[in-house]
Amino acid sequence: MSLSASELERYDRQIRIPGFGVEGQVRLKNSKVAVVGVGGLGCVASIYLVAAGVGRVILIDKEKFELSNLNRQILGYQSDLGKLKVEAAKAKLKELNPEVEVEAFPVELSEKNIDEVIGNVDVALDCLDNWETRLLINDYCVSKNIPLIHAAVSELYGQITTIIPRKGPCLRCIFHKIPTVQTEATPIIGAVPATLASLEVLEAIKLLTGIGEPLVGRMLFLDFRRMSFDIIQLSKREDCPTCGETTS
Ligand SMILES: [Zn+2]
Repeated sequence: MSLSASELERYDRQIRIPGFGVEGQVRLKNSKVAVVGVGGLGCVASIYLVAAGVGRVILIDKEKFELSNLNRQILGYQSDLGKLKVEAAKAKLKELNPEVEVEAFPVELSEKNIDEVIGNVDVALDCLDNWETRLLINDYCVSKNIPLIHAAVSELYGQITTIIPRKGPCLRCIFHKIPTVQTEATPIIGAVPATLASLEVLEAIKLLTGIGEPLVGRMLFLDFRRMSFDIIQLSKREDCPTCGETTS
């Protein structure tokens, strides 16, 4: 697959990056990425995936836009209140870049539909706000060997890591116990998920083009109150129920 004159012009500034080139752009064009959750993280992630020319972007979210989403879910405008997030987002993303395909799934991922929705993606982005679905995707991605980029945000904090099945730890290696289910709305400033979502897209582009070094086996913690960023090393658990060597 080659690039048209308009694609070469549209992506000119990234094609110029050493090690990226036309070859990197063609790789993006041939790629399919799932954005699971079109909230504060997923809106920004899908904008940058589409702007960068990832050939197929899958949006998954069953919710509709509400007024209290609009401080951070920037694909939702005032006129989108009450509309399905994936549909309103898709319309804007197609305006941004008609060269890419955007697929909208207004569903909640479950064991029943996960194969159909994200079965053949190259990378999945965890843009969720609940651990139940997160762990479902983790287990699915490990079983199908799909790289998964995890991010989570709250208040003025965020975390991100990249999971390449069997090459590094998965979410169940890292979180021995499922974090307690939160019933109240998470306090958040929009720029926090925007930052983490941008990092997720960078990780995805690196994996898809082969440039740089992914955040595998490392978790980056961002504390925006102090503006301090720390990386901790993570290791695989041999007895991990999902990816462990001792698990049958
Ligand atoms: Zn594991």
